[in-house]
Amino acid sequence: EGRNPNEPEFIQAVTEVAETVIPFIEKNEKYQNAMLLERMAEPERVFMFRIPWMDDKGNIQINRGYRVQMNSAIGPYKGGLRFHPSVNLSILKFLAFEQTFKNSLTTLPMGGGKGGADFNPKGKSDNEVMRFCQSFMTELSKYIGPNTDVPAGDIGVGGREIGYMFGQYKRLRDEFTGVLTGKGLSYGGSLMRPEATGYGNVYFAENMLKTRGESLVGKTVVISGSGNVAQFAAEKAMSLGGKVITFSDSSGYIVDNHGIDTEKLEFVKELKNVKRGRIKEYVDTYTSATYVEGKTPWSVPCDIALPCATQNELHVEDAEELVKNGCICVGEGANMPCTADAIEVFLEAKILFSPGKASNAGGVATSGLEMSQNSLRFNWTAQEVDEKLHGIMNSIHEQCVIYGTEEDGFINYVKGANIAGFVKVADAMLEQGVV
Ligand code: NDP
Repeated sequence: EGRNPNEPEFIQAVTEVAETVIPFIEKNEKYQNAMLLERMAEPERVFMFRIPWMDDKGNIQINRGYRVQMNSAIGPYKGGLRFHPSVNLSILKFLAFEQTFKNSLTTLPMGGGKGGADFNPKGKSDNEVMRFCQSFMTELSKYIGPNTDVPAGDIGVGGREIGYMFGQYKRLRDEFTGVLTGKGLSYGGSLMRPEATGYGNVYFAENMLKTRGESLVGKTVVISGSGNVAQFAAEKAMSLGGKVITFSDSSGYIVDNHGIDTEKLEFVKELKNVKRGRIKEYVDTYTSATYVEGKTPWSVPCDIALPCATQNELHVEDAEELVKNGCICVGEGANMPCTADAIEVFLEAKILFSPGKASNAGGVATSGLEMSQNSLRFNWTAQEVDEKLHGIMNSIHEQCVIYGTEEDGFINYVKGANIAGFVKVADAMLEQGVV
């Protein structure tokens, strides 16, 4: 902690991994005396830079940009860019650290990285977002490349922002390469990339439920967030027979006890992705639903909870309430949405709980598939990508079972994901020497 003052999120993420990985190292001589976890907790490189840009009124604005290149043991750095006013070094280091383990779990050759800026896209015009993205990429382009570091989207960075950044990279480098993932279909994107994180989260939940002879059919599902991950988690949960009843954003949540169907989901997609409105507008159209201001949806009784908004959005009291209300499965779609003490509650109650690094890995896995398609200069069909994604989620689940099953048969997915993710990166680091 002394080395990383004022970095609580980063310390939280490293502590969670250390708690399960250190006992594993102590039992396995091969991983001892090599400072492996210590090396993994030190970024290989961090860039911080100024992003000056001009707003529509002609005023100069300044934001701070970052790229954390965490670990390249098993492949080029890979991880998203986040544009949100809360972005700081602690949050990006936590995300880059998690990303290293997650990417390892995907079975694909990708190292860990993360970046972004403290820019708030809310209320900005398209032109302002474009000028910001161009200024951001003007600096970032010096540090990335298709064989070095391949960023993607994250909170506040979707198809629009990736397009503007890709255009700027190409203009600066005069190179048409797969330097970013999450691209539009007309310029090298992969089918199924937008769906991948949400779908993957539900495929993982399906796997967890299967270990107890359960499925999604007839289950009530509570989802937080209403962005990319939340929308597609809802879509897949619905298609597998679940009844989705909530969405949220940073202002509050809606609950629709009739269930959100395909038409209502299309409304939410249009509202959030095109109109860039607030989730509370849902109740203006679907008047039987209710809106709760300033709260998260965890007090709504459910069988399955999928936190898909942001870090530390589900606290210990929320976890206690979910368990009390009979929730049997919590699948993290966001990164670190549950606090450490909330996770303790789920593990003690022995309900199914998957950490984001396992259950939201479908997004980066499909980004890996986008990189493969770019290198092949060839596109797979949606069905081919979806099958590969489904196979990868099954394989991540299997790795968690191998490393996470406890003596009484309980599958501790936190332990399983941390150890399985660690082993591959650690083996690569050991074979590459002291680097
Ligand atoms: P989006 O920007 O599309 O959506 C984010 C959603 O979360 C919005 O509903 C937003 O509400 C809400 N939200 C954001 N910040 C906060 C906050 N501080 N408090 C409460 N709500 C908040 O992002 P994504 O859906 O892409 O990402 C969601 C999570 O999933 C993040 O943790 C991300 O790191 C993770 N993730 C995303 C992947 C991807 O492929 N997109 C891959 C793996 C993980 P509002 O509209 O009010 O801002």
